[in-house]
Amino acid sequence: MEMEKLVSLCKRRGFLFQSSEIYGGINGFWDYGPLGVELKRNIKEAWWQDMVTSHDELTVAEGAPSTHEMTGLDCTIIMHPQVWKVSGHFDLFTDIMVECRETNKRFRYDQLRGRWVTCTGKKAKGQTKQLSASTSEAKPQEFEKVFVLTKSEAEEELADLERAALKAFNIRAKDADKLNWDGEVVSFETISNFENVLGPGAKRVGTLTDPRDFNLMLESHAGPIKSDENKVFLRPETAQGIFVNFKNVVDSTRVRIPFGIAQVGKSFRNEITPRNFTFRSREFEQMEIEFFCHPDTSRKWYEYWRDRRMQWYTDLGLAGERLRLRDHATDELSHYSTGTADIEYAFPFLPEGEFGELEGISHRGDFDLRSHMEGKLDPKSCPLEVELGENGKPKYRGSGRDLTYRDDQTNERFTPHVIEPSAGADRATLAFLCEAYTEDEQPDDKGKMQTRIVMKFHPRIAPIKAAVFPLVKKDGMPEIARDIYRSLKKRFPAFYDEKGAVGRRYRRQDEAGTPYCITVDGQTLTDQTVTIRDRDTLKQWRVKIDDVVEEIALRVS
Ligand code: ATP
Repeated sequence: MEMEKLVSLCKRRGFLFQSSEIYGGINGFWDYGPLGVELKRNIKEAWWQDMVTSHDELTVAEGAPSTHEMTGLDCTIIMHPQVWKVSGHFDLFTDIMVECRETNKRFRYDQLRGRWVTCTGKKAKGQTKQLSASTSEAKPQEFEKVFVLTKSEAEEELADLERAALKAFNIRAKDADKLNWDGEVVSFETISNFENVLGPGAKRVGTLTDPRDFNLMLESHAGPIKSDENKVFLRPETAQGIFVNFKNVVDSTRVRIPFGIAQVGKSFRNEITPRNFTFRSREFEQMEIEFFCHPDTSRKWYEYWRDRRMQWYTDLGLAGERLRLRDHATDELSHYSTGTADIEYAFPFLPEGEFGELEGISHRGDFDLRSHMEGKLDPKSCPLEVELGENGKPKYRGSGRDLTYRDDQTNERFTPHVIEPSAGADRATLAFLCEAYTEDEQPDDKGKMQTRIVMKFHPRIAPIKAAVFPLVKKDGMPEIARDIYRSLKKRFPAFYDEKGAVGRRYRRQDEAGTPYCITVDGQTLTDQTVTIRDRDTLKQWRVKIDDVVEEIALRVS
């Protein structure tokens, strides 16, 4: 599926709009339209229902070391700034950025790609130094450049690259054979000499700055004075709200370890290059669980959550080769983590064979609770240290509160270990949209074959569960159809449509992903039955009007 087709459908049918579109939009921010809001709500509700509300703590789930409880929380977006200092986000939540002094564009260092090129006997614009044969593999009298791409090796980007090279060397297109391309597309991180780099969209070489750290937390000020003391941060993850409330939850409920706290809410990251539709946004929603357990059983619980979360996506229709569970290699793990796995999806905007993260499940040990108790030394110079140094004070004070747990049955006191399944609601929504998009060939009202676009959502997450049509606008059919529509509406989102040929009404619902269409026709007037049409199989069958609601309810639950 081409991504452009999905993006166009999302706009046309009201799944997603660019934020503030009438003012030209704002990069990295998206609005959910009438269908999109229902879809995303259904995904969040399915998550909450499956992880929290309908979780049955009395049943030992398959693979789990014992029974466990699940509870919820809803914390603020702005928290005490100390939270972010102790969590490490203040010092370490950074991406490496390079800036172009000519175009003022910013790029993520790790995402840039480029190719070396020389032009026999020609100096590029802006290049002052001739390279000696000893500093590069270039032939004498040649000048070397790297042309930087922001994506991987796509055909049209290579054409852009050539256009940029022609401009930089000030030669005409017909002389393109003077350009000598050297080797494959390489990562920008492999380059040490920035003087010979031509940035994306730049006309002169050597305008990219050295890479530097860029903190991804968005800032604001709480209170009337914009001073450093009043500086606050919009949370970059919902997890910290759970950690700092750990004691409150234990004290105010009767939960016993092992138990999990779930939270769904907005997070903000000042991404340097938001892109790929909603995949990398600056404002997005997360669905996170912090699961607290005894250190001795934590490994088992990690495995349990990894498998359970994977199953959740599969059950809702993200099956097949496009979904995978990938265990991180040891050198990929965060310093505190003894195990991390990503659930990934092969989004259509990624190059063939590449996957994008939907959710990370990590074993975080006791890192977070200990940090909030004890504080931290300078995390940059000493990232592994969470305890007080022998004589030094921590750079960032912890809360000083006792965040350990005492098991009232064994009397053992310990700092719980944490397993964190951390999912993005927007990325999940995008994956379900991509997976649902299908085209097939179907005859129209006149029997002519037409391409049908159909969004094959799992009925549980489909924005509209059923649509009701009178075949024609007469003979009392609209009245009967409206009555059915009203009874459906009391149970779930339904839609009434009497405009245009019935075939076109079906097509509109196929694009919205409505699993069932109910039609009132001539036969209804004699035997009180209607047809139900299945979106995917196109099969139709007749049901008594009185049974319609139950029939649909059964199928969409
Ligand atoms: P990435 O490597 O893609 O930036 P991450 O590893 O930083 O992601 P986490 O910090 O583990 O992501 O966040 C948990 C989840 O939150 C991710 O799996 C993803 O679904 C979601 N998420 C993170 N950043 C963004 C973003 N900028 N836009 C949309 N969703 C996001």
